[in-house]
Amino acid sequence: MAEQVIIIGGGIIGLSSAFYLQEAGYKVTVIDSTDMQQGCSYGNAGYVCPSHFVPLATPGIVKQGIKWMMNAKSPFYIQPRLNRDLISWGLQFMKSATHAHVERSAVPLRDIALLSKRMYESWAELPDMDFAYEPKGMLEFFKTEESMRHAEETLKEAQHLGLDTSLLNKAELQAMEPHAEIDALGALYFAGDAQLYPNKLMSSLLGWLRQKGVLFEMNQSVTGFITEGDQLKGVKAGERIYAADHVVLAAGVWSGEVARQLNLRLPMVGGRGYSVTFENAPYKLFHSIILSEARVAISPMDGNKIRFGGTMEITSLNAPPRMQRVQGILESVKRYFPAYDIPMPAADKVWYGYRPCSADGLPYIGKTDKYRNLTIATGHSMLGISLGAGTGKLVSELVQNVPASMDITPFRPQRR
Ligand SMILES: Cc1cc2nc3c(=O)[nH]c(=O)nc-3n(C[C@H](O)[C@H](O)[C@H](O)COP(=O)(O)OP(=O)(O)OC[C@H]3O[C@@H](n4cnc5c(N)ncnc54)[C@H](O)[C@@H]3O)c2cc1C
Repeated sequence: MAEQVIIIGGGIIGLSSAFYLQEAGYKVTVIDSTDMQQGCSYGNAGYVCPSHFVPLATPGIVKQGIKWMMNAKSPFYIQPRLNRDLISWGLQFMKSATHAHVERSAVPLRDIALLSKRMYESWAELPDMDFAYEPKGMLEFFKTEESMRHAEETLKEAQHLGLDTSLLNKAELQAMEPHAEIDALGALYFAGDAQLYPNKLMSSLLGWLRQKGVLFEMNQSVTGFITEGDQLKGVKAGERIYAADHVVLAAGVWSGEVARQLNLRLPMVGGRGYSVTFENAPYKLFHSIILSEARVAISPMDGNKIRFGGTMEITSLNAPPRMQRVQGILESVKRYFPAYDIPMPAADKVWYGYRPCSADGLPYIGKTDKYRNLTIATGHSMLGISLGAGTGKLVSELVQNVPASMDITPFRPQRR
């Protein structure tokens, strides 16, 4: 009889894992605390971006972060709180923010992104799996000389990693986006990046998995486990206990909390970001765009939609949204596109979600020493979509106990 896998969390990581586990012949049940319509895997920018081989924890970010904290509209903010988890995460984050860590992380981040991209390409070929996948490349705009020098460094590193990347001057950049008036010095062009429409990806996946017999238990929070020695025997949610041969923990930013129920430590904080999406808007852009100084993402997608998103706000998971940050995103777009006067939408049209931020910017993917049938897959920070399909593939290999498609030791959950 097929073995039963319980997946905790129905975001992109949980659903990608379900995809490959059902394909490998397991009986799969996904448990999620919500109705799976609005979480972090929906309103994000939808970039599939091997270009992002630099983790969040970088040498400059701490100093820059302190400066940004003084500005309510800035792209990065840590809400000061006397919280033990936040303090310990912060200390580990600072410890990781070194050149050596950035260098060590580049190859694993590139490899999992390329694996993931191949998986998305194969999904895009499947019948009934339409998620507006467009391998159209990404432009990373810069406005200042300092950012240009930084872009030149990134270009060298990207080319060294074998990523198809070029540096465009102002005229070349303008030619790439002929319908917009651009105020920037130039851009990096990452030809190998792709754009997808996350809301469609999630609904397509959900439909596909249902059709393949994957079961969904929505609006049920996992509150505990049945254990026997080094085995998880069951998962408690609501009134029920779900018997399990294998458990996958993919609960996004809440994974740390769930892991604590098993006395496991998974350093994690929520990095809140916001986005607004317009349909049939007058902003005629083609490529996925990052405004590097403003840390804003612009995603033209699914034919008639454009999404503006950004900010990284390390805050408690129930703090009310701060609309000044959304205002900050829209105002910074105008600095690069002077003709764009994007209206501030009503509060109920603003989406926000919490990126599951590990302390060193690398995901946690692997097994733990304590429970041999538990697989952890979380902590993807700002890259959960990009690394999602690949993570699902790796999770299925871990559960099956077969060799992984790539070296996953840098992602081991119990690293210190
Ligand atoms: C503004 C913004 C833009 C972004 N842009 C990009 C991008 O362009 N490319 C990219 O790769 N990434 C991007 N990201 C990051 C990406 O969205 C996340 O990394 C990704 O969605 C995380 O997926 P996940 O499955 O780990 O978590 P989630 O999507 O948060 O899913 C976790 C699920 O677990 C459930 N859950 C929690 N606790 C429990 C429990 N106790 N029991 C049962 N279920 C539980 C939750 O309800 C949730 O549905 C962006 C994020 C933001 C905020």
